Amino acid sequence: MIIDVHTHTPQYRHAVPEGRRHINTAWRPDTARPANYSWAEYRESQSVVDKSIVFGIAWEPGERVGSSAGPGDDGDVADTVNDFTATFVRAYPEELIGFMSVHPYDLRAMDEMDRSRVDLGLRGVKLGANYQSYDPLDRRALAIYQYAERHGLPILFHTGTSAVKSAPIPAAHPLIVDEIAMRYPELKIIMAHMGHPWTVDAVVVVRKHANVYTDISGMIFRPYTSYEALIKATEWNVLDKLLFGSDFPIATPAETMARLRGVNDILEGTRMPRVPEDKIEEIIHRDSLALLGLE
Ligand SMILES: [Zn+2]
Repeated sequence: MIIDVHTHTPQYRHAVPEGRRHINTAWRPDTARPANYSWAEYRESQSVVDKSIVFGIAWEPGERVGSSAGPGDDGDVADTVNDFTATFVRAYPEELIGFMSVHPYDLRAMDEMDRSRVDLGLRGVKLGANYQSYDPLDRRALAIYQYAERHGLPILFHTGTSAVKSAPIPAAHPLIVDEIAMRYPELKIIMAHMGHPWTVDAVVVVRKHANVYTDISGMIFRPYTSYEALIKATEWNVLDKLLFGSDFPIATPAETMARLRGVNDILEGTRMPRVPEDKIEEIIHRDSLALLGLE
């Protein structure tokens, strides 16, 4: 069983129309990636895993739609970010688990959480205080965490830096999750990207809180960063709380697995400590849905 806990909802049910394709050159140092894509392109990428968690981002209060690169790409599926995800998940329920996204400063945020959970069947929450430009300890954000804790909805927080121009970096520092986890100890949290580049900060937060996990998505194409993150997770004894994720479209699960398995390659000819290979296989095959209460 392989679970990809971090993927972004496709904007297009059908092929991306001629002239509408956006290519992002800022996400990765090694290659450009499509920022919008179709259901078929998404499913082709995810064909190597058993199940994927998928979500959009509510970029602004009242935001209707938006792509993983930012607000404003309308696509051809639905009018709201959560309907976008729910429509896709309903088409392939055996492959997908949908998370909602809401904006804490949206006056209708709590109603949207109810609607997304009860009517749309979305089973967790995606938030990114940097992308969404909200204060992660504002009372309106706390209300979302409290709702999620009460209803057993895991929250996947973007943690770490971002290439999105409008996204203030400090709001997504992993140490903020320490404060949230202390206030909501039953809330299941995934910190995205091991908080890159603050990976050791993410590691110590994960170590401290039983219900806090971190995903390894979106950093594996930086060989030293990912080695450093995984060796720190090894030395702090939290490898068992690392979840597999690709951050598609930024990377595919196939290349993420390949790079994970090659994480020690840069050590050739040195006596540097190795990330245990058996633990890497455990990350890839981890039953994250059971850990998150989503079975
Ligand atoms: Zn992401």
